[in-house]
This record gives sequence, structure tokens and C-alpha cells, in this order.
Amino acid sequence: MPRKLVVGNWKMNGSLAVNADLVSAVAAGLPCAGELPGQVDVAIAPPIVYVAQLRQLIDKKNSSLALAVQDVSAAASGAFTGDVAASMVAEFGVRYAIVGHSERRKYQGESDSLVAQKAVAAQQAGLTPIVCVGETLEERDAGRALAVVAAQVHAVLMQSELDVSRLVIAYEPVWAIGTGRTASPEQAQEIHAAIRHQLKQLSEAAANTAILYGGSMNAANAKQLLAQADIDGGLIGGAALKAQDFLAIVQAAQ
Ligand code: 13P
Repeated sequence: MPRKLVVGNWKMNGSLAVNADLVSAVAAGLPCAGELPGQVDVAIAPPIVYVAQLRQLIDKKNSSLALAVQDVSAAASGAFTGDVAASMVAEFGVRYAIVGHSERRKYQGESDSLVAQKAVAAQQAGLTPIVCVGETLEERDAGRALAVVAAQVHAVLMQSELDVSRLVIAYEPVWAIGTGRTASPEQAQEIHAAIRHQLKQLSEAAANTAILYGGSMNAANAKQLLAQADIDGGLIGGAALKAQDFLAIVQAAQ
């Protein structure tokens, strides 16, 4: 069984002042570093410019809270204006890199193959990629949800350099993101089980790959979703911006 993982994706929200309050409140509800770890790993993905601020805050509080970034470059270094390499964020003790979020696929036109290259680049720098997959409403209505997700996962698994034992997949149906409309536990479980099957066909090590659900997960619906056999945690957007709500989701994952 994979360890449970709850990640707060702050998206493009925050400020120095807001972050300090939010991280303090979240850290206060989690074990300290070095204490007996709980059943759940917890991470926050702030906008990249605040990674150093969060590193300092987390260290000062000796918190077990881990850091994630919302994206990384597929390249190791060079003439890629505006991009940030995985090795650079690794210097700040970042543990995870979200790649292929549907907002980046949509607004930055990221393809399955670019997302797969980013996952490999993250691993090569020692980070664990959190690869986001998920269908649009149109695709679901056309009965193509399973096929779309399978193709997105396949693009990543095809990379020969990829280490499946250091990978997290996040299923985020696009129609459930920021809409308040959540996939039902059964809808989510169906897709998660299919992803698990796909991973296991590649390697038995995939039995330990965490598969997170994301899309309007909140304090009220987390327990039911997390009770599903193949839902190993959550990738949380809106509800991660309120410490109480975020901690309630972490609690529901225990
Ligand atoms: P919401 O929780 O706001 O729906 O966002 C989900 C998400 O996109 C997390 O990456």
C-alpha cells in the first residue's frame, strides 16, 4: 500500500504576509520533523518565487511539511527564459514537482510528451514528479474518460528513463477543478483502479505508487473519496488556501 499523501497546490495565490500566516497555521497542525511521522505525508506547492520563503518558515518551525513546486522545466539548464530547472528547486529541499497540471496543459499548451519529459527531468534532479492526468467534460460525456487518462499515463510510462517507484499520479478530472463539482467516489475509484492496473502491468513496484485525487476535494467530501481502495491522497486547490480546511483533509486521510 502506498503511503497517503496530501498536497496543497496554491496555484497563483499568496503573498509574503499571507504565506507566513498560512504556513504557520498548517505547520501547527502537523508533526514536527523527526517526530514519529503520521500516516500521511503532507506537502505545499507555492508559486515558485515563494519556495525560499517557505523553506525558511518550515525549517524555523522544524515542521515535517514538505515542499513541492507547481511545474519544472524539461531541460536541465540553458537558454529557456522564464523556466526553472528541477535541479534549482532541489537546492531548496523541494521534494515533489507537479507536472502536467490541466491548467498548464490548457494555458501553456503542454503536450503529453512534454509532460513526460518534465517527469523524467524532475526525477533526474532527485524530485518525485506528481503527474496530473484527467479528462474534460466533453471527453467524459463522449465516454472517453478512461481512454484519455490511459493515454496521458502511457506517455509518461513510455519514458525508458522513468523510475516507476518514484512517481505519483494525480487524477484531476478537468470538469471538477475549481468548479465545486466533485467526481463521485465511484467515478474517481473507477479511474484510479484503471491507472493502478496500467501501472502494475509495467512493474510490481507500481503497487506503491500513490494515486491522488484532485478536483474540488474539501473538508466535507474528503473522507468518502479517501475511503476508496485506490485513492491514496489528494491534490488540493481552493481548500488548501485555508489552514483549517486543509488540515481537515489531512485528518480525513489518516
Ligand atoms: P480545486 O481543489 O480548487 O478544485 O483544484 C484542484 C486542483 O487543480 C489541484 O491541483
